[in-house]
Amino acid sequence: EAAAAAAASAGFRLTAVRREPAVRLQHGASGLEPLAWSEDHRVSVSTARSIAVLEQLSDVHSGGQDMVIHRTAVPAPAAACMLKVGPKKEVAECKEKFASSVDPTVSQSFMLDRVFNPEGKSLPPMRGFKYSSWSPLGCDANGRCLLAALTMDNRLSIHANLNRLQWVQLVDLTELYGERLLEASFRLCKGDAPCGELGDFPEFQRRHSMQAPVRMEWSGICTTQQVKHNNECRDVGSVLLAVLFENGNIAVWQFQLPFLGKESITSCNTIESGIGSPSVLSWWEYEHNNRKMSGLIVGSAYGPVKIIPVNLKAVKGYFTLRQPVVLWQEMDQLPVHSIKCIPLYHPYQKCSCSLVVAARGPYVFWCLLLISKAGLNVHNSHVTGLHSLPIVSMTADKQNGTVYTCSSDGKVRQLIPIFTDVALKFEHQLIKLSEVFGCVRTHGIAVSPCGAYLAVITTEGMANGLHPVNKNYQVQFVTLKTFEEAAAQLLESSVQNLFRQVDLTDLVRWKILKDKHIPQFLQEALDKKIESCGSTYFWRFKLFLLRILYQSMQKAPSEVTWKPSHEDAKILISDSPGMGSTEDDQEEGTSKQASRQSLGDTGKGVDIDDTAEDSLHQSSDTGGREPMVEKLLEIQAQIEAVEMHLTREHMKRVLGEVYLHTWITENTSIPTRGVCDFLMSDDAYDDRTARVLIGHILKKMNKQTFPEHCSLCKEILPFTDRKQAVCSNGHIWLRCFLTYQSCQSLVYRRCLLHDSIARHPTPEDPEWIKRLLQGPCTFCDSPVF
Ligand SMILES: [Zn+2]
Ligand SMILES: [Zn+2]
Repeated sequence: EAAAAAAASAGFRLTAVRREPAVRLQHGASGLEPLAWSEDHRVSVSTARSIAVLEQLSDVHSGGQDMVIHRTAVPAPAAACMLKVGPKKEVAECKEKFASSVDPTVSQSFMLDRVFNPEGKSLPPMRGFKYSSWSPLGCDANGRCLLAALTMDNRLSIHANLNRLQWVQLVDLTELYGERLLEASFRLCKGDAPCGELGDFPEFQRRHSMQAPVRMEWSGICTTQQVKHNNECRDVGSVLLAVLFENGNIAVWQFQLPFLGKESITSCNTIESGIGSPSVLSWWEYEHNNRKMSGLIVGSAYGPVKIIPVNLKAVKGYFTLRQPVVLWQEMDQLPVHSIKCIPLYHPYQKCSCSLVVAARGPYVFWCLLLISKAGLNVHNSHVTGLHSLPIVSMTADKQNGTVYTCSSDGKVRQLIPIFTDVALKFEHQLIKLSEVFGCVRTHGIAVSPCGAYLAVITTEGMANGLHPVNKNYQVQFVTLKTFEEAAAQLLESSVQNLFRQVDLTDLVRWKILKDKHIPQFLQEALDKKIESCGSTYFWRFKLFLLRILYQSMQKAPSEVTWKPSHEDAKILISDSPGMGSTEDDQEEGTSKQASRQSLGDTGKGVDIDDTAEDSLHQSSDTGGREPMVEKLLEIQAQIEAVEMHLTREHMKRVLGEVYLHTWITENTSIPTRGVCDFLMSDDAYDDRTARVLIGHILKKMNKQTFPEHCSLCKEILPFTDRKQAVCSNGHIWLRCFLTYQSCQSLVYRRCLLHDSIARHPTPEDPEWIKRLLQGPCTFCDSPVF
C-alpha cells in the first residue's frame, strides 16, 4: 500500500500494488522472454531445468487473501536433441572429420558450435528452455491452451495438461521436421539444385541451420474445410504454428482441433523469408470488411522488420499480402528482440487497424497498418527515452494496446497508444519496481489476459553497493488496475465469460475478502444489469460475489481450533501420483500451494465440497456469534436462489435442444419429463417461455415418461433434486449439470472450481448431446474436464 501511495503522489495514473504470493523458482530463468501468460490464466516460466507453470485460480472455496496458484512443470528432456542431417553413420564420420580437421576455421567452428554439439562434452550442458509459446484458448482436448516449448538444444515440442497435474508431450516437431527434410534430401522444392555432400562443412552447416528453431508463434484459431467420405464439406477448427529457423526459413504447421498428437497435423509448408540473422516472429492478423488478412512479421538481429505473405488455400476466408511489406529497412544493428501485433480500432479513420510494436535495443519501434481504398497505409516511428539499458522483455495488453517494456534494472514502462487524426502516438510512464519489491533485477514480464496483473521475474538487486551473493529467482505479481476499474470492466465485458476474466475477478475477490462486504456501487450496478438484460453472465457474476462474500465471513483458519484433517489426507493422495516427473515438481509445491491441491485433485469424484456447511456448524457450536450465523445463513439462501435461477435457465436450454432434436416417440436419454416437472414444481416460478416450451414438449411426448432406471436395482430414479438422484433402495447417483442425466458410473468430469460434476460423452450420444456436454460450467464458466 505504501508503494501505491508513493506512485500516486508522484502523479501517476497507474497504481502498482504488490500481490502475494511471490513464487520462488528452483532454477534460474533461461532463454529469451522467459515469461508468458496464457489466455486460460497459466503463466509459463522458462528455466534451466523445466518450464514452471503457475495457474491462477479464481478460488471460491477458500478465504485466504493471497492469489491462488496451482503449480505444475514441464520437465526438460533428459536426452540431448540431435538434428537429423543425414544417415547416422555418415554423420558420425563427418563429425569426426571436422573435429580433427587441420583447418582451424573448420575444427574450431565445429567444436564451439552448440547446435552441432548439444551434448557439450567439455562444454557445460545445454539444458533448459529457450522459449515457450501458448496457443489460443480452445486447442487441447479440454478446450484449453497448448504449450509449445523450445529447448536450448533445439527440440521443439507441444505439450498439454489434461488432468490438472501432469504435462504430456503430444508431438516432437523438431524430429518430424528433420524426417521430412531427410526424405526430401534437404531440398525445399523438387526443382532445387541437388545439395552438396554432408562431408563439406558449409553443407553440414546449412542442413543444421535450416532446421534449428529460433522462435515459434501460434496463429489465432481459423476455420478449414474438410471433405467428408460422402463428399460433403465440413468446417473444422484449426490453428497454425509458425516456426522460424536460423536460416530465415519459416515452417507453418497446420493442426486440426482439438490437437491430440501427430494425427492432428494436416500440413506443413516452408516459406523462405530471405531475412538474414532472423531473431523473432509474430503473426499479423487483420480483419477488414469480414475478410481476414494474415502474414508473418519477422525481425532481424541486424535491424529490419518485414511482413511475409503466407499462402494457405485450405483456410476459409484467409487472405494474405501479394508481396512482403517492409516495416523497417535500416540495417542499423539494433536487434529486434520482441514483436507484438495488436488489433485496434482507429476512432478517427473509422476502421480497424493493426499496431505492430517491436523492442529494438532501448527503443520501441511501432508501426500502424490500415487498409483503406487506396491500399495499405503504413505509419511508423520509434519511441525513445524509455530506458537507459536495452529492453529485456516486452508484453502487451491485447484488449487496449497498452504495451509494457522492462529493462534489467527493475524499470518498467507503460506505453499507452493515443490515436491522432491519421496515426497514433504513445504516452508513457515509469513503474519503478523497486518501490514495490525493493531493489531488484528483472528478467522478464508478462501482462495478464485482461490487463489486471503484471508478472515479473526478479532476483535480488544491489544492496549497499554490493552485488548479491546468491541469485534467488522469483515470479512476483503487481496489480495494474484498481478494484473499481476491474469491476467496471467485468460489468461492461463483451466476452461475458467469468473464466476468461479470472485476473479481473481475482481483483474483485481480493477486495471483498479484505472488506468483508460487496461494495455498494458494484451491487447496485449488477442488480441493474440483471434487471435490464437478464443475461446469465450477470447472474454468474452475482453468484461469484456471494460465494466470495460467504468465504470472507468465515473465520480465519488460525481461529479454527480443530477440524477433521481429511483435507490433509487428500493432499497426500493427490500429490503423489501425478507430479512425480522431476525433482522440481516435488519441491515446487510449497505448503501454501499444497493446501490448494485439494482443489486441483481429480481423484475423488464423489464428494461435492461443502466446506461451507462444515464451518457453519462450527460457528454455531462456539456460541455467542448468532448475528454472524444469521448473516451466513442469509448469504447461503441467496447463493441457493442464484444457483436455482442458473439451473432453471440451463434446463430451459436443454429442453429447447430436446425439442429441436428428437422425434415424437424417441427416448432422448435426457430425463425430459423429470426436468419439466422440476421446472413447474415451484409455484413461485412463473416463466412464460418455460411454460410454452414445456407445453410443446409434453404434447410431443404424448404421455410417455421415459424414466431413468437405477443400474444397481433397476428401480425408477425420480427427478426430485437437481444435484442427485436417489432410487427407492437408497442408491444415490449424482446428476450431470450439463444434461441432468444421472451419472451412473464412477468417473466424472468437474469444472475447475469443483462446483459441479458432469458425465463423459459416450460414442452412442447423438451430436447435440455431445455439444451440450462440451459446454462450460453453468455456474463459473470454467472448462469441465
Ligand atoms: Zn437402486
Ligand atoms: Zn464451476
